[in-house]
Amino acid sequence: MGKNIDLLASLSDASTDSEFFSPMPDGYKKGKTRYCFVAGTVMSGLGKGIFSSCLALLMQDKGLKVAPIKLEGYLNIDSGTLNPFRHGEVFVLDDGMETDMDLGTYERMLNQELSRANFATSGQIFSSILYKERHGDYLGRDVQMIPHVTGEVKLKLRNLAAESNADIVFVEIGGTVGDLENAYYIEAMRELAYEEGPNSSCFVALTYILEPKTLGEQKSKAAQLGIKQLMQCGIQPHIIACRAGAPVTETVRQKISVYSNVPLTRVISLPDSASIYMIPAMLREVGLDFEVARLLKIEDRIKLEHERTAWARWCDFTDKIGSATRRVTIGIPGKYTSVRDSYASIINALEHAGIALGADVQIKWIETTDITGKNAARNLADVDGIIVPGGFGIRGAEGKIACAKHARETGLPYLGICFGFQMAVIEFARNICRIAGANSTEIKPGCTEPVIDVLPEQKKIEGLGGNMRLGGRDIEIKSKTVAWRLFGRKKTVRMRFRHRYEVDPRYIERLEKGGLVFSGKAPNQPIMQILEIPSHPFFMATQAHPCLTSRPRAPQPMFVALVAAAMQRRYPDEKLPDCIKAARKICSPPK
Ligand code: GLN
Repeated sequence: MGKNIDLLASLSDASTDSEFFSPMPDGYKKGKTRYCFVAGTVMSGLGKGIFSSCLALLMQDKGLKVAPIKLEGYLNIDSGTLNPFRHGEVFVLDDGMETDMDLGTYERMLNQELSRANFATSGQIFSSILYKERHGDYLGRDVQMIPHVTGEVKLKLRNLAAESNADIVFVEIGGTVGDLENAYYIEAMRELAYEEGPNSSCFVALTYILEPKTLGEQKSKAAQLGIKQLMQCGIQPHIIACRAGAPVTETVRQKISVYSNVPLTRVISLPDSASIYMIPAMLREVGLDFEVARLLKIEDRIKLEHERTAWARWCDFTDKIGSATRRVTIGIPGKYTSVRDSYASIINALEHAGIALGADVQIKWIETTDITGKNAARNLADVDGIIVPGGFGIRGAEGKIACAKHARETGLPYLGICFGFQMAVIEFARNICRIAGANSTEIKPGCTEPVIDVLPEQKKIEGLGGNMRLGGRDIEIKSKTVAWRLFGRKKTVRMRFRHRYEVDPRYIERLEKGGLVFSGKAPNQPIMQILEIPSHPFFMATQAHPCLTSRPRAPQPMFVALVAAAMQRRYPDEKLPDCIKAARKICSPPK
């Protein structure tokens, strides 16, 4: 027994004559935090983040403190420079970290705000190591993948454990077992589990069961090979979650159990689900939550009373899914319309608003490059509201401006997000304020009327990574405006930002004279953050990304108001409540 203690005690020893090297953060309490690792086999895109967040939710419901972390294999420092078309949306955290979209899944599912401590990339790990090497921190040692790189990974995980004081840290390994770029993460997990001792860690292998159309039956070979690969890395999974199109048969589960030393009760079937919010119930039904608690020997920390109320509250929410009585269509003119992942948060925010309002929200994707002033009406004829989302660059910008014009003129509910805010300003400037050359310097550098221009603070920053105005900021709400009513007369609200351009303050007065109301601005700075047209049924836009903070059980007010306005437009005879009142009813905090 003493041996294990000696092992941990000697881990921080960075001297040249010890092979043990595993730096420990100050205040780390061994045994307090357990670890649940989720790795994928067979293929990527299995929904490791979704699985991990659903399991974490079930543990959180039991009164346990959970902290998720995503380990990305790529060498970028953050997700800020990644093309959403290739990698899904860039999810911005309150502290300004630009992360993978999985962090959005965790925040939504757990209703918990995350920070840079919950996200690591190979780029971060290696730059930290190279920095330490240059500062002589390795005391003459040759810096190696093992123990130094794996040590850095373990340090990141233990830092999160110490900072969050979590009962369980959920670790999601990006990519697939067998990838060169995440191999050292897997090795680090193996080492961590060894160092922390028995019952400290639980390994989940997420896999995929193929069902070739030509055969018409489920085949487990690819899954078996994937799991074998994990075992070759020295990791014996405790749980195997089998993703598949349809429920996984008993025979297939048995086969996997035989090949992997995992008892059948812990080889679970995880078929596709219409809504990710139904997955916690699937995991709970097979008892996976208590199985994890047993494996980690933390049953004594579970608060059953807490679990009962939390689960009842969750079910109040999921009971509403699929029970909508009305249908509305929201048009989204965007650039990356072929890849839904690039608008994940918007889709989620619309879903949350729809569920709360009893509306089935359909999304119509519109390729903006095809839209002109002439055909906007035709393209938007069958939508009940539109969202002009965030975007960069010139492509499709004029189409978005045409959409904003059509919405403003025809009373079509409009929600502009970031770029969609800027496009609404340009449209208003051109067509109401008669500033013919109005444009953004992002779209037309050197334009004569730069109503949208680079923020002075951003002009000073060089390089392409992390050079935007990023993260959570307060927005000062102007009293007696639509936004003020929508946010329950609050003086300030907080939203997340990711932009370089803003309304040039020299144009504010002219725009307001024309009837545009800037109802939200940065405190102490002339940065316009929310606009509205009071005479319109619902025309609102924000320089922020309100979709990032919409949660299933706390839908974002602007999205609720948009969907409510779309319902009013779609069902004019039903005398539905005013969209702002409807949103207030849903978004006011529970007593
Ligand atoms: N391209 C615009 C800017 O940088 C909008 C950014 C966005 O929509 N996220 O300000």
